[in-house]
Amino acid sequence: MAQPSFPKLLYASLRKRLPQMLDVLRELVRLESPSLEKAPADRCCGFLADQWLLRGGIVHILKREERGDHLRVVWPPNTNRATGQLLVLGHYDTVYPTGTLTSMPFRISGGKAYGPGTFDMKAGIVQALFAFEALQELKIPVTKNIVFLWTSDEEIGSKSSRSMIETEAKRSDAVFVLEPSIGPRGLLKTSRKGVGEAELIVHGRAAHAGLSPEKGINAIHELAAQIARIERWNNLRRGVTINADIVHGGSRTNVIAEHAQATLDMRAWRASDMRSLESRLYSLKPVHRGAKLHITGGFDRPPLERKHSATLFTRAKFLARQIGFSLGETAAGGGSDGNYTAALGIPTLDGLGAVGDGAHAKTEHIIAKAMPQRAALLAALLATS
Ligand SMILES: [Zn+2]
Repeated sequence: MAQPSFPKLLYASLRKRLPQMLDVLRELVRLESPSLEKAPADRCCGFLADQWLLRGGIVHILKREERGDHLRVVWPPNTNRATGQLLVLGHYDTVYPTGTLTSMPFRISGGKAYGPGTFDMKAGIVQALFAFEALQELKIPVTKNIVFLWTSDEEIGSKSSRSMIETEAKRSDAVFVLEPSIGPRGLLKTSRKGVGEAELIVHGRAAHAGLSPEKGINAIHELAAQIARIERWNNLRRGVTINADIVHGGSRTNVIAEHAQATLDMRAWRASDMRSLESRLYSLKPVHRGAKLHITGGFDRPPLERKHSATLFTRAKFLARQIGFSLGETAAGGGSDGNYTAALGIPTLDGLGAVGDGAHAKTEHIIAKAMPQRAALLAALLATS
């Protein structure tokens, strides 16, 4: 176990590295890495691999056909026998297509670093890299294997990385997620809603709206009736929401609509609410005689419930105080890959990445001076887990 003063030591050492941290962040942001463009994403992944190699990590590039490659870095502990594994998790993909840098260049101004993906979540990756460097240089004892996993498709639902994340999480005693924190005080995300998407498809029967309306079954009317029913399932106090985000239907005027469909966004804080929302959806019956309903999809990311993060958060708060800042927590309505690991029952702490604002927006930025603090916090968590 590390010495009691080690969080301060880590912070002092990391504070000196802030200029290098910003240099790596600049390079990383300049290597644009949209989830949907494999070649640029792979270049970004290669750069990260080199950064870890330089610092003595054991690097595996996990090739993918369609998406960017994933990066897995292992750091064996500096003691003889490892007694478990810790997982540090994040994604290097961004929501910005190649060329975004022209209108949104990387720049540092007023203590903030701006650019696509700075906050969500390239600065978080840089913090982890330097946490790793500082632990090594200060020879802080770490007794577990540490696996860093940087994936390429979190922003589009993690289809090509989910099973790998889950396999790695099952081997781990704790998972630290480098997604951005919330607000100027950098609150950690100790719970996240479960998130799902479903399609409600209605089949009716087409007919001439003037000549033979009695022969038609209006799919749009049926869909409207179902949406009115679904809307009543919302319970904002409990945090249960279901929203029709996209609707399509009908073919032309004069024709009773044969087809209509809605894409539904579903969210809940509790796994039990998630299951009941799903079962209500799948037991919908048509309102109009002859109409047929077809439902697909459902919850994809289960909720990250606070019981899975509480213990890690208590320790994080204690370590932050030793470093010299006070750490708060909040709940987030959106999901991350941390939802998958928490749902397996593995203690998961999310929002350990950058402090800043403007994720997915033109104003995206991070607060530079928070980087060494947060890096020290991660390093201290790894050393005490
Ligand atoms: Zn993210």
